[in-house]
Amino acid sequence: MTRNERVKAEAIWTILASEATEGDTIGGLMPKAPATVFAGLGTTIFESMSRLAETHRAINLGQGFPDEGGPSGVVEEARSFLLAGNNQYPPMAGLVTLREAIARHEDRCYGLTRDPKTDVLVTSGATEALASALLGLVSPGDEVIVFEPLYDSYVPIIRRAGGVPVPVRLEPPSFRLDPAALARAVSERTRVILINDPMNPAAKAFDRAELEDVVRVADSADAIILCDEVYEHLVYGREHVPIATLPGAGDRTLKVGSAGKIFSMTGWKVGWLTGPAALVSVVARAHQYLTFTTPPNLQAGVAWGLDNASAWVDELTRTLGEKRDKFAAGLTELGMSVLPTTGTYFLNVSLHGTEWEGRDAEYCRHLTEHRGVAAIPLSAFYVGEPVRDVVRFCFAKRYEVLDGALARLAHAAR
Ligand code: PMP
Ligand code: GLN
Repeated sequence: MTRNERVKAEAIWTILASEATEGDTIGGLMPKAPATVFAGLGTTIFESMSRLAETHRAINLGQGFPDEGGPSGVVEEARSFLLAGNNQYPPMAGLVTLREAIARHEDRCYGLTRDPKTDVLVTSGATEALASALLGLVSPGDEVIVFEPLYDSYVPIIRRAGGVPVPVRLEPPSFRLDPAALARAVSERTRVILINDPMNPAAKAFDRAELEDVVRVADSADAIILCDEVYEHLVYGREHVPIATLPGAGDRTLKVGSAGKIFSMTGWKVGWLTGPAALVSVVARAHQYLTFTTPPNLQAGVAWGLDNASAWVDELTRTLGEKRDKFAAGLTELGMSVLPTTGTYFLNVSLHGTEWEGRDAEYCRHLTEHRGVAAIPLSAFYVGEPVRDVVRFCFAKRYEVLDGALARLAHAAR
């Protein structure tokens, strides 16, 4: 088989695999898939919608990624480090310089004291930090409380670890946490409470009272809090409060970060996890058998950025706040019902009262194919019965791209 033929065969396989259902044999190209947790899953909604957007040349406001690059100093540092020949395995827990920079970042931004030797683990993106944490900490039969709508990687990994996801629903438009619902979710099997603050796709930053409820429940259940804070710098109108800073939370909380989000470089996949040494060391055991390390030059670039690019990050937050307001106003002008965004770079729109009510997936497909704007249906983010009349747009795009999307949507709004 020539290289071209192989690439083509792989492309066909990918398309077929994305359309397969559990147990399918795909055109004789592949043996019957074994019934593992992953074998029965489709392609992620982000990948599917991005490919659909490409096919239809739609403006992609679906998958969350910024269309402008990060600070040039970060790239420059990674480049010099690479060219200086630092191309072998770095330490399993991450470059010392990056671990130190992460510790300084935690201290400077939140007053959290982290020992770079024991309390910080560098991972290949937040995704790997979360996977390592769940695989490291969850045993078969353990329950993991999650908040719906939830980021798509959580549940497959919990299940792969043998855990049982226990969803607590947050309802639109405010997605406020109901402490009674959280209390009902607890059992003697509760091992981890996995929270995402600011929360994707709800586009909300939890307030202090909600976080206190989570800490109280974690304390009563003696559970670990795993907090995915990849959007920590994308909170509008107030400071981000890491749950780890609340009284009683520090000893039981692992905090997850992502350079992809902080520096608008989602392709870099440099993440980390910080917390008490006793927990971080267990997560490191799982990490050493997953990715083991992360490209050293990218780590060096991120270390530089955490120490030197905080003004760039502040400016990003300010600009994104402006884009949120402008895009929300534009959508509202088109007659759309816009839900509040207090964190992340996502904006949700309710289809309630429109002809599309309860059909978010069809609406997103229609928008992409016929109006040239891609969005993500919220129904993709549920374990239980989904909310089906809300769609998510990513507004981390250049002003002219957002204006272009609004112009296209003007034909589709009602
Ligand atoms: N958590 C949440 C809530 C996200 O939205 C994302 C998306 N990037 C991730 C984790 C993954 O981050 P990374 O790209 O660093 O793996
Ligand atoms: N976090 C991004 C989003 O929510 C997508 C990341 C991915 O494609 N897995 O859109």
